[in-house]
Amino acid sequence: MNLQQLIRKNIQALKPYSSARDEYTGEAMVFLDANENPFNAPYNRYPDPLQREVKKKIARLKNCAADQIFLGNGSDEPIDLLFRAFCEPGQDNIVTIDPTYGMYQVAADINNIEVRRVKLNDDYSFSADALLKETDANTKLIFVCSPNNPTGNLLDKNEMTKLIQGFSGLVVVDEAYIDFAPGASLLSELNQHPNLVILQTFSKAWGMAGIRLGMAFASEEIIRIFNKIKYPYNINILTQQKALELMEQESDKNQWVESLIQERAKLAEQLSNFPFVVKVFPSDANFLLVKMHDARGIYNYLVENGIIVRDRSKVVLCNESLRITVGSPEENQILMDKLNELI
Ligand code: PMP
Repeated sequence: MNLQQLIRKNIQALKPYSSARDEYTGEAMVFLDANENPFNAPYNRYPDPLQREVKKKIARLKNCAADQIFLGNGSDEPIDLLFRAFCEPGQDNIVTIDPTYGMYQVAADINNIEVRRVKLNDDYSFSADALLKETDANTKLIFVCSPNNPTGNLLDKNEMTKLIQGFSGLVVVDEAYIDFAPGASLLSELNQHPNLVILQTFSKAWGMAGIRLGMAFASEEIIRIFNKIKYPYNINILTQQKALELMEQESDKNQWVESLIQERAKLAEQLSNFPFVVKVFPSDANFLLVKMHDARGIYNYLVENGIIVRDRSKVVLCNESLRITVGSPEENQILMDKLNELI
């Protein structure tokens, strides 16, 4: 892979915006450089544009270098930045699996980039060769998602390695749900693959969807490109503070994950006993994809009873299927009680 050839010419030539906090980063007695209001500390000050403290902590947790981390307003931000950095509108394309997370398509549409979708196998596995066959000289990115949304399954590691090694563009592996599949992350292999971008998020296992903090892990060269084109102060002070605070309590996160994995097994078992359930697909994530007789009918019944799940019936390979997030034990019991009233 040649990153200089992969990057769009205008981005390569871009002179990025230089903020006050980029130009001077040290301590000082008086800051009169950013047209800030001197009152209402600490919120009067612009945040660190590169979120150094947060990255230092993440680097320790994830056992990678701080320079291999980009932080965005959710993982949706790096998804969009990948298109803007590498895909020429109206000319380039990306390849992805089908079904998968909907934002790859939306970000592609916003950036006027063709999406080549390769249907998963019936058991939701994928083949690296099938994806590689769809690529051409204008394919800049391949997106895969593991565990995949909405199917819930981890993708095969050997196939992923084959995909990464067999492609001369970037392979983006979205690991939003990876904490629910212990030991399965590709992050430990980041240094072996200069064309690998891994996405993770604070929205799922860490329970912080509300603060909007997503992570991209990649080579320092790729991270430098993200930093060049991002909004100058893309992560606000409150988010940075809250993330630092919560990372001090990693044990809480681990307990939540453990509880959700246990609840997932219990829920899967209970759901599979209902006569209207055709199949509960195996899940490595914090949700279950459940095939039913009359999924829409069950969906409507649950809505009428104040329980909202996601109807994925219209999604390819997911006909008659609902996606059910694993909730707290109490929430899952409410769901079970309502479904029991149906039989
Ligand atoms: N990737 C996948 C696969 C997801 O399912 C989601 C959220 N539904 C995201 C990314 C978005 O995460 P974030 O909240 O970090 O934008």
